[in-house]
Amino acid sequence: MLDPFGKRARELLEEFGNINNFLEIIPTYLDINLALERVAWLKNTIIPEYILNANDWKDLMGFYALLGALAFSPYGFEMELVKEANLKIYLTRIERTKNFEELSIPIEPVTENEIPKRDRTIIEKRLHSEISPEDREKIALKYKIKLKDFLSLNEGGLKNIYIRNGCAYLTKNQVIELWKKSFEKNFERAVNLLYELKDELPQYYLQIYNRLSEIAREHFKKRLDVIGRTSAQPLRFELFPPCIKIALRGVPSGLRNYAITVLLTSFLSYARICPNPPSKNVRIKDCIKDLSIIEKEILPVIIEAGNRCSPPLFEDQPNEIKNIWYHLGFGYTSKPTLEDSGSSTWYFPPNCSKIRANAPQLCKPDRDCRYIKNPLTYYLRKLHLKSKKEGRRSGR
Ligand code: SF4
Repeated sequence: MLDPFGKRARELLEEFGNINNFLEIIPTYLDINLALERVAWLKNTIIPEYILNANDWKDLMGFYALLGALAFSPYGFEMELVKEANLKIYLTRIERTKNFEELSIPIEPVTENEIPKRDRTIIEKRLHSEISPEDREKIALKYKIKLKDFLSLNEGGLKNIYIRNGCAYLTKNQVIELWKKSFEKNFERAVNLLYELKDELPQYYLQIYNRLSEIAREHFKKRLDVIGRTSAQPLRFELFPPCIKIALRGVPSGLRNYAITVLLTSFLSYARICPNPPSKNVRIKDCIKDLSIIEKEILPVIIEAGNRCSPPLFEDQPNEIKNIWYHLGFGYTSKPTLEDSGSSTWYFPPNCSKIRANAPQLCKPDRDCRYIKNPLTYYLRKLHLKSKKEGRRSGR
C-alpha cells in the first residue's frame, strides 16, 4: 500500500464499517512484536523488505496498531517515532512507484498539450541538451492539483510552482513533498480521532504503547535528556487554547459556572497534574502525593478567574468552591484530604464539540485548533511542538 490514508486504505476500512471495528479485530491477527517491527527497524536505519512488501491488509493493520497505541499519549516521543518510521516506509514505496493514483492528495496526470510549449521549454529546460534523461524526468511537470487544494496542504505558499487555469503543476518530487505534508496532517488527525476512543480500546494497544515508549526513549535519548517528556510540569499559560484564555479573563454571569467550574477546573488540573492520563478513570491521588499542587498552583488560578467574572463567581456563589472540589473528584466538600480523591469523578475537559454546543462564546478557534478535538490535546500538541523547537535550538 502506498498511502494509509489513500483510496485503497479507505476501501479496506469501509469493509469494517468503522474504525472501532477495525481496531477491535487487529489484536486477533497481529502479534504485538510484529506491530512493533514497523518502528524497531529505525535502529538499523534499513527498512526490511518484508515490511516494504507487506500485503495491503497486513500493512494497514500494522499501521493502525501503532496509531491505536498513540491514543494513550497523542503528543509525545512515541508519536514522533511512529510518524518517522511510517513516513519513511511509505516514502520508500512511493519513490519506487510510477503510479500516484492511490495517494490521498487529489492530483491528476498532465497531458503534454495543456501547458503552452513555450512554458514547458523554459520550465523543463528542453533546449538544454546536456541534461540527462534522469534529471529531465525530475523537472518534468507531470501532475496538477487544484490551487485551493494545493494551498490548503502547502502552507509554504507558491514559491517555484507553475500555476495555470486555477491549478498548480508539479514535478514528481513536488508531489512527494506535498504528500509528506498531507501524511503528517492526516496522521495527526487520525491520532486525535483515536484519542477519543482510548477508553474503549483493548489492552493490546496499551501494551504496544508501553513498548513504544521504551523504543522511543532509546531512539530520542539525547533529546529526552535535554528537554524531558510531556509529563506533569508547571503550566505554560502562553500555550493554552483560546477557550481557556477566554475563561481565564473572566466571563459574564450566564457563562461563569461552565467556564470556571467545568472547563477551567478540568483543563488546569489535567494539564498540570496528568496531561496524559492512562484512562479517563484516573484519580488525582494516583498522580500526586499531596494537595499542594492543587492548593498553590491550580486553585488560585481558578479563583482569580472566578473573581474576574462579572459579577465575581465566588462572591456570588461561595459554595461553588465545593463544586470545584467535586469536579476534581473529591466529592462536594470545601476541606478535602488526598484520600477523598475518587469520591466523585475527576472530570475530563469537555471536547470542543461540547464546548461549542454549551458555551459557543468560549470557542474562538485559532489555526492550531484545526488539528484537535479537545482543549487538552491542543495544549499537549503545543507543548510537544515547543519542546521539539527547543530541542532543535539546543542542536539535538
Ligand atoms: S476549537 Fe476547541 S480548543 Fe479551540 S477554542 Fe474551540 S473549544 Fe477551545
